[in-house]
Order: sequence, then C-alpha cells, then structure tokens
Amino acid sequence: MTESAPPSQAPASLQRHIGWLLLGVVVMFASGIALSIWFSLRAGSHEQQNLLHLEATQTRISVIRLLDYYHTMLDRAAKDTELIDLMRVGTVEEQQAWAVSRQRLLPDLLGMALVNPQGEVLGDALSLRVGPRCQQDMQRAETLRDIRPLLHREVKGAEHFDLVSEVYEPGGDILGGIFLSVRLSQLQRVIDDSLHPGHALIILDAAGNIIARQGEVSGKLKEARLDIPATGWTLIAQSPVQLLTGSGKMQVLTGLLTLGAVLLLLAMSLLRVRRAMLNDIVSTRDALTALARDEPVPTILPHYVEFGAAVTDINLIARHLQGQRARLEHLSLTDPLTGLPNRRAFETRFPQAQGLAERQHPVALVLLDIDYFKGVNDRYGHGVGDQVLLALAQSLKDLTRRADLAARLAGDEFVVLLSDLDESGLHAWFQRLADHFHSELNAFGLDLQTGLSAGQTWLGPASRDSIDDALMRADHALYQAKAQGRGMLVQHVEPAAGATE
Ligand code: GH3
Ligand code: MG
Repeated sequence: MTESAPPSQAPASLQRHIGWLLLGVVVMFASGIALSIWFSLRAGSHEQQNLLHLEATQTRISVIRLLDYYHTMLDRAAKDTELIDLMRVGTVEEQQAWAVSRQRLLPDLLGMALVNPQGEVLGDALSLRVGPRCQQDMQRAETLRDIRPLLHREVKGAEHFDLVSEVYEPGGDILGGIFLSVRLSQLQRVIDDSLHPGHALIILDAAGNIIARQGEVSGKLKEARLDIPATGWTLIAQSPVQLLTGSGKMQVLTGLLTLGAVLLLLAMSLLRVRRAMLNDIVSTRDALTALARDEPVPTILPHYVEFGAAVTDINLIARHLQGQRARLEHLSLTDPLTGLPNRRAFETRFPQAQGLAERQHPVALVLLDIDYFKGVNDRYGHGVGDQVLLALAQSLKDLTRRADLAARLAGDEFVVLLSDLDESGLHAWFQRLADHFHSELNAFGLDLQTGLSAGQTWLGPASRDSIDDALMRADHALYQAKAQGRGMLVQHVEPAAGATE
C-alpha cells in the first residue's frame, strides 16, 4: 500500500476567513458613512456660505433702499419749481424757513438746509443744525454732485451722514443744493432688522471704520462682503463656521446607529452559524469516533441542509459498518458447520456461568464426545460424518434452554453449560439428549454404531476455578466414560486428599 502524499498546503482557518469578512464589511460601511459625512459637510458649508451671501445681499438692498428714499426725496424737492424760485429770488430768511418747515416733516433727520453752489448754508447754520464740520466737507468738494454720503461722528449722540442734491435753474445753471443730515441710528435699525441669530452684520466706510455693527462672532468664521454702490461703504456679514448642521448631526448619528446595528446583526448571525456548524462538526466527529471505537454510533441530525448529504453518507457508512461488524462478530463466534457457538463463544460466555455459580446456582459443565466417530467417517465418508455432527447440534439446540449454552469445541467434541440442575436432573437431561441424538441418527437409515459419551463437573466461583481447570476436570470424567464403555455420563469426583489418580 502506498502512503498518501502529505497535503501541500495547511488547511485554511474558517474563523480567520469570517474575521476578515467581518472586517471588510465594517471598513466598507465605515468608509461609506465617512464619505457621506464628508459630502454632507461640504454641502453644509456651501449652504452656509450661500445663506450668508443671501443675508448680506438682503441687508445691502435694505441699506440702498434707505439711501434711495432720502435721495429720491431730495431730488424731487430739487426739481420743485417753488424751490427753484426760492433759490433764485427768495431771501435768506425765506430759504431758512423752507428748510425748517421741511425738517419737521422727515423722520430721523438731524439737520436740513439750502446751500449755495460753494456749499455755504443759506441762513443760520446753527438753527438749521448744520455743524461746522459738515459745512467744511461741503465746501471742500469740487462740486456738490461729487459729494457722497459724508459721515460725522464727532458729536456723541449726533452721529449722522450728510446727503446733498443740486438745484438747477431751468436753463441748466446751478443754483445751489439741498443739504440733509440723517442719523446713523437709521442704518443701525436696518442691520438690526436684517440680522440672523448668531451672525454679525457690519457696515464699514471707505477707510475701514465701522459705521454700524450688530452681533458678534468669535472663533472661526465665514464672511460675505458686498460694496454698497455710490457710497464707498462695504457691508460684511459674518457667521461662525459650523462643521455639522442639525441635519448633518442626525446623518452621523443615523450612520453610526446603522453601523452598530449591522455589526450587531452580523456578529449575532455569525455566532449562530458558527455554533450550529460546530455542533454539526462535533456530532459528526463523535459519530466517527464511536465508529472507530466500535461503540454504538449516534445518528447525526444536521442543522444545515448543506451538511445533509455528507451526514446521510456518514450515517449510511456507520450502519453498514455496524452491520458488517455484527456479522463478523457472529461469524467469529459461530461454528460454520453446525451453526452452534464455537470455542471462542464458549470462552466469552464462561465468566457469566461462573457469576451464576458464585451466586450459589449449580452450574454444570458437560463435555460431550461422539463414540466411534472416526469409524462413521471411515465407513460412510465425511459427508455422513458431518450429518452426524449436525444431528448432535440439532439435539443440543432442542434440549438446551436460552440460559444454557451448547458449543462445538472441535471435531466431535461439544461442551454444554447447564444451570440450575441437580445431579438427577443432569442425568435425565443427558439421557434425553442421547435419545434425541439416536432418533435423529435413526432417520438416516444407516447402521452407524455410535453414541454419546459425556464427562461432567460443577463450576466453582471465579476465585477458585478457571476455564482450563473446569475443562480438564470434565475431560477426565469423559475419559472415564470412554474407559467405562462409552454411551454414558460420568461426573468428575474430586480425588480424596493424598490419593493419586
Ligand atoms: P472415541 O469413541 O474414542 O471418541 O473414538 P472416535 O473415533 O470418535 O475418535 P475421536 O473422537 O478422536 O475422533 C475424532 C474424529 O473426528 C477425527 C476426525 O477425523 C473427525 N473429524 C474432526 N472434525 C470433523 C468434521 O468436521 N467432519 C467430519 N466428518 N469428521 C471430523
Ligand atoms: Mg469421538
């Protein structure tokens, strides 16, 4: 027999494979969630920037609308023919009276006056509330048209910006202008109304000084800057950088919960599969071990249908081997000619008979030998000899109880273990056996000239008797039966102490 070649590769570990699979799933899931968080962060950041830009745009529109309101009003007044006449021919007192009357009509106005083309106030500047700095700024400008909103914050509580609109003659010559100063609180109100919670809004002048501001943002911030046209001012909207918005946080939480749930489900399923698979493997191994040890093989009931075919095969092999083993066992314990138990079977059953003897049951061992059997063989041939052996076997089968044992030791020699018979019962049994044997032989219709001789001994307990001793005693008795003329049962008698055989 050639030995099978050693496996070229060590077997793979199922546990490691499952571990890698689990790790792969976790990594894939975690990457998916990380990617989705990254996208959500990016989208959130864009969304924040857009919202901030929208906030700045809306605030700028409100500021422009405020400035437009005053500009439109000034322009309308500048085109009023009544005012043009007043500028052309009116007295300073009338011009001052006009400004005073209009001042009262407009909200949040600090001062109002008519000025000449050089920017000098027509009337009393103090009562019209035109400060010296305002006058200087006007006079410093090349033309009144160039004047942008002029900021003045020198006097606390009177912070304002100035607007000027030119007044022309119908012929197109400049007559002067209308001067207006509006409190900064107007601008402050606009950004107060436009501010989003947590944000900041700032209006800077051309030099970068703060004109109005609302809100404070600390730490990392986002900014949107817009110019306010025709003013030189800049509007800034600020908001803190928010890494995760409310929906982003929910997304992360949902992702983590899903990951946790998937991991838990996977781990539980794998544990279940592992336990069930191990059960199948262990019960298969137990069945194979029992088979190898010649023990009863438990039937394997597989958990998974995939194991079904293999398990059915193993169950079949186990049953087949057990059947074969039982047949071999039977053969090894049976005499092939007569079908009676053989010497091995007798030796196997002998301790049981000794156990009976130990429990005070009389057990007789009877050694039987056919008389002149060789002569039968010689006269009628081995075929008839075999028939004679079969006849004795049949008689033994008919005349022994289930508790007794009749076995063929060798040739024409048989042994019987009989329990619970006394001496007379034993002789009666032997007589019945001899008669039965004779009647069986008579059926052959031959003059066989044969019979049965027997030597008998009582079994002692195992501590004081052995199979060899018992057989030897019975053999002595048998020898005596032969010697005394055959066709009889002789009991072994213990020789008296000191006597020689
Ligand atoms: P005794 O009365 O003294 O027993 O004389 P015997 O002729 O019976 O002599 P013995 O018991 O020694 O003879 C046994 C013979 O049994 C010897 C052998 O040829 C024969 N024999 C042994 N086995 C078989 C068998 O299986 N079939 C047949 N036909 N004969 C067998
Ligand atoms: Mg014989």
